[in-house]
Amino acid sequence: MAAKRDYYEVLGVAKTASADELKKAYRKKAIEFHPDKNPGDKDAEEKFKEAAEAYEVLSDPQKRERYDRFGHSGLGGAGGFGASGGMNMEDIFSHFGDIFGGHFGGFGGFGGFSSSRGGQRMRRGSDLRVKVKLTLEEIANGVEKKIKVKKYVNCPQCQGTGAAANTSPTTCSTCQGSGQVTQVRQTILGQMQTTSECPTCKGFGSIIKEKCKHCQGEGISHEEEIISINIPAGVMSGMQLSVSGKGNAARRGGINGDLLVLIEEEEHPELIRDENDLIYNLLLTVPEASLGTSVEIPTIEGRAKVTIAAGTQPGKVLRLRGKGLPSVNQYGKGDLLVNIGVYIPEKLTKEEKKNMEKLLESPNVKPSPTASKNFFSHIRNMFE
Ligand SMILES: [Zn+2]
Ligand SMILES: [Zn+2]
Repeated sequence: MAAKRDYYEVLGVAKTASADELKKAYRKKAIEFHPDKNPGDKDAEEKFKEAAEAYEVLSDPQKRERYDRFGHSGLGGAGGFGASGGMNMEDIFSHFGDIFGGHFGGFGGFGGFSSSRGGQRMRRGSDLRVKVKLTLEEIANGVEKKIKVKKYVNCPQCQGTGAAANTSPTTCSTCQGSGQVTQVRQTILGQMQTTSECPTCKGFGSIIKEKCKHCQGEGISHEEEIISINIPAGVMSGMQLSVSGKGNAARRGGINGDLLVLIEEEEHPELIRDENDLIYNLLLTVPEASLGTSVEIPTIEGRAKVTIAAGTQPGKVLRLRGKGLPSVNQYGKGDLLVNIGVYIPEKLTKEEKKNMEKLLESPNVKPSPTASKNFFSHIRNMFE
């Protein structure tokens, strides 16, 4: 493992830097080297981790004191980094969520790291739920939907800090900005450590002297927003998509909740969906089924012609390969199944009856024993 750089040097601050100065310096580094801004850049990722590690130590008064006295070796076991060599990304996001509040709101994309970890809680806005109705055509192709939602956003006046104009929150001196206080008590079982919400700042980690008038110090305001959602092809009714970071903003900074999009499918006037297949029920007339014909049917891409062979039996299914819906995980496409039925006229004029009676005399209208067997076994197969 390479020798570690001095933590103060990493953050670019003096050894005498205050908690606020450290926080500001770290925020700057975190924005500069954030993985969202530097996709695939290993060097930036290392610097991002290095800054997080430096801040993790220097923002903790006890660790900072040990580090000041003994350098990196002073953190050996207790610091947690000595042996393992650095933090992973999830650690960084879950430990330092409070850093990314306020001005950092524009980034989004922190949604996945909201779980509480190591007892440290992170403020996160609530998830927002919306329903989106889609036509089969939209589902077939995927669609970008713009929807209007009412949601909590960072207050535009104070950028989510909750502090009045020209003022900014100060780091809580009781908890040094962590929002939590740790108490160590001696019990008969040994030392017991409990962590609870800081009573001075109510867990926010900072103190507001003068509240923002627009949001009464909450840091959020209820606004209408238009959100565009990319819906992939092949989704189904009941599926829920989650758009990270597009939910409600958290009070006084913190990270946004997610936007949960529930998919609802509008009924198509002619086509029926069966997973990725589409079904069209086609009812032919007796002469059409007997003589054969060409019929126009609806598909998801518009009308198409299918040829019906002479002597087509009711119950036959035509399969148009690949004319169904794409699967949402992009493995191939379903088919369009055309179910064929034959309509037997229910009312006939005298003239029509005469024609039918004439047909009765024709030997070919009567099914052979084989035809009869085939027909019913086919019908049975359809229901089994
Ligand atoms: Zn506090
Ligand atoms: Zn405000």
